[in-house]
Order: sequence, then C-alpha cells, then structure tokens
Amino acid sequence: MGYDAIVVGAGCSGAVVARCLAEAGRQVLVVEKRPQIGGNVFDGPDENGVLVHWYGPHIFHTSSQRVWDYVQQFASWHPYEHRVLGRIDGQLVPIPFNFTSLERLYPAGEAQAVKEKLRERFPGQRTASVLDLMHDPDGQVRAFGEFVFEKVFLHYTAKQWDTPVEQVDRSVINRVPVVLGEDDRYFQDTFQFMPDGGFTPLFQRMLDHPGIQVRLNCDARQLLRLEVGRITVEGGVFSGPVVYTGPVDELFDYAYGPLPYRSLDLQFQQLEEDQFQPASVVNYPNEEAFTRITEFKHLTGQRLPGHTTVLREYPMAYDPLGERGNIPYYVISNPENLALYQKYAALASEYPGLRLCGRLADYRYYNMDAAILRALELAQELLA
Ligand code: FAD
Ligand code: UDP
Repeated sequence: MGYDAIVVGAGCSGAVVARCLAEAGRQVLVVEKRPQIGGNVFDGPDENGVLVHWYGPHIFHTSSQRVWDYVQQFASWHPYEHRVLGRIDGQLVPIPFNFTSLERLYPAGEAQAVKEKLRERFPGQRTASVLDLMHDPDGQVRAFGEFVFEKVFLHYTAKQWDTPVEQVDRSVINRVPVVLGEDDRYFQDTFQFMPDGGFTPLFQRMLDHPGIQVRLNCDARQLLRLEVGRITVEGGVFSGPVVYTGPVDELFDYAYGPLPYRSLDLQFQQLEEDQFQPASVVNYPNEEAFTRITEFKHLTGQRLPGHTTVLREYPMAYDPLGERGNIPYYVISNPENLALYQKYAALASEYPGLRLCGRLADYRYYNMDAAILRALELAQELLA
C-alpha cells in the first residue's frame, strides 16, 4: 500500500496519533467513515453563519502542561472560562452548586450556618463530592449533601443514564463537584481556552502534513480484513501498526454482543435574536426531558447580531440502526460492561499491530485532553 501505518478515525485520538507518526517520518493513511474530520469535536457554521458544535458542546480544559503545549502548535487560543447555570425551583443558580446557589435556594437564615459548617468541616478545601457530603458524619453537612443531590443530580442523572442513580459510576457523578466557595466556573483546570475560529481548523492543521493522507467516507471495515491473527488491506497482509479509534465491538462484528452506550438526540434551534439565555449552558436537572441548553455564541465568542443558535440535548438509548440515537456518545462504565470490554480488548491483542485508542476503542469517558494525552503516549510507544 505504501503506508507505514493506518489510523482509523480522524477525531482527537486519530489525528494526534497520525500527526506524531508523520512527524517521525512515517507515511500514514487515516480513514474516516464520516464525510468530515474532527470526530465528535467537529464544528462549523450553520446556515445563519453561527459557529456550532455539531456533536454537542465542546470546551477545552486541561491541567496537563504537555497537552496544552501540544495543542498550541495547531491554533491560536483565547481564554474562556465555562460557566453554567441550572434552572432549579424556578431560579437560575450556578452549577457546580456553590455558596451563591446555596444562598439562593436555602431558606433565609440557614444558608449562613451551613456555609460556616462547611468551612469548619473542610478547611482550605475548594470542592467536595456530593456523594461524600451525603455520607458525612455531621448531620447538617449530610442534609446539605442530600439537598444538592436531590436538586441537581438525582433527576439529571436518571435522564442522562436511564438507570437507577446508585448504579451510575461514582466517577461520572464526581465529574461535577460541589464548590465550597464562590467560584462559579464549571471546570477547575489550570488551562481553559477555546481555539480561535473553532476546533475543525485545528484538526485540519494537525492532519495537514506531507506524511498524512486522509480518506473520508471510508469505513475501515470495508478496507481492513481481520483474519486469524493478521490484518489484510486491499488483498495484502499489512504488518505496520493499525490504530483503531472507533467502537471496538463494531470492529469485531459484535462477537461477544454489543457494548452498551448512551446516545443523544441533539435538537438545534435557530433564532432571530441576539441572545437567548444569560450563559453558555443552562442545565435543566429536573422538569424538562432535555438535560441542557447550549447557546453557542457565548462559547465561541462569535459576534453576530440578529442570529443565535441553541442546542437542546435529549438523552436516549443507543441504537446503531435507528434514525435517531445512532451515535455512541457515552460509554456506560460499570463492572459488567468493563468485563465485556476486556474480552474485546483481549481479542484485539491477538492481532499484532492492532492498537485500540480513544473514547470508544478504550471504552473510557475521556475528555478531549485525556484522549489527546492517551494518543501522544500511544504514538510514543509505537515509535520507541
Ligand atoms: P471520536 O471523536 O468519537 O472520534 C472517533 C472517529 O472515528 C469518528 O470520527 C468516527 O466517525 C470514526 N470511526 C469510527 N469507526 C470507524 C470506522 N469503522 N471506519 C472509519 N472511521 C471510523 N471533551 C472535552 O474535553 N470538553 C467538552 O466540553 C466535551 N464535551 C462533550 C460533549 C459531548 C456531548 C460528548 C459526547 C463528548 C464531549 N467531550 C468533551 C469528549 C470528547 O468528545 C472526546 O474526548 C473526544 O471526541 C474523543 O475523541 P476520539 O477521537 O477518541 O473519538
Ligand atoms: N450531572 C448532574 N447534574 C448536572 C450536571 C451533571 O446530575 O447539572 C451529573 C450527570 O450524572 C452527568 C455527570 O454529572 O452525566 C457528568 O456531567 P458533565 O457535565 O461532566 O457531563 P458531559 O458534559 O460529559 O455530558
């Protein structure tokens, strides 16, 4: 074929691996089944010229100096600190739940006492897990934890995951802490930025290298044949690395049954007004069937009078053959699913050269920065 390596998928993971291998002198073929690059981070203008994120809102944030140094090569970035409001009891309050949220929602007079108790119980601590607060030895702290859990987490989590909340992995709920202070930022990471002009141009620059060829609209399952212990491509055995970033169960034709995922029905609405809501994202933990509304202009900083676009996210079951819900957005991490995943990972290891990498292939709830770090480490290993 004339290639040293094949990368399946042109999202964060695939683009980073391809770029690293190409910079080390390898000829890399990237195959992407969609008509565009960027994976779920793909963005671009809608018909009114509003820059939108077509697979859900994406904000870059990391505490990894290595990841931050890496991505700066491919875009100029502007500082952006993400702030989210939640509609709770008819009011818009900061999420993560912080002392301002507490003052707005707790009965007058009680809020001050709870704040003092939290300061005394967790001196110098900026955040706490709602699950820990709910099991604190102190009754007042426990009652506060239960209040926040009920108002913010219980129903949102039930909608998002469609499963009893006790069965949702702690790490998922702990992605959103309770803030023991006034900080109203959604993320606490050291580096919080957005790329000027959007994410897609960043991935275009990353893949723009003489050692990389990208084939769009190309499903790897049509190109690669997995035969006992070897991979053939266009009739010949391919002995170089094949980095696969798609869903691993699909790669092996669901040999052990499907891995569970959650999907989303993303409903965009174009509006002829300057601004729809006061923040980038408003969460609706309780009454509505959707979980959140994103208004993209706040996220991107785009100035476009008279037009705005908002997105409502309706969680739904994943159905690969459905008209809606056919994208595996979220892995569902629990012991049973991880055990099933391990069977696929073991199967993959029988093919020399085949490497799994990314949110779907590793079956892990990676943010972009974690996906990038994993891809950098894999590329380093392949080049060692
Ligand atoms: P993907 O982006 O899924 O890319 C995989 C690519 O492989 C896709 O383009 C797919 O078409 C292609 N592919 C699959 N199978 C095949 C095949 N057989 N042949 C060819 N191509 C194939 N992270 C953040 O850091 N900040 C956020 O704000 C944030 N928000 C998110 C919001 C939502 C709704 C979701 C779902 C995720 C969010 N993330 C966020 C996570 C982020 O999307 C992922 O970390 C990132 O997309 C992972 O990149 P990836 O390359 O591993 O996977
Ligand atoms: N969550 C919640 N209420 C909120 C926000 C988040 O219950 O207002 C819980 C929910 O279980 C969700 C998880 O925290 O799945 C992680 O939230 P995050 O905003 O990180 O989700 P993502 O952006 O990955 O969809």
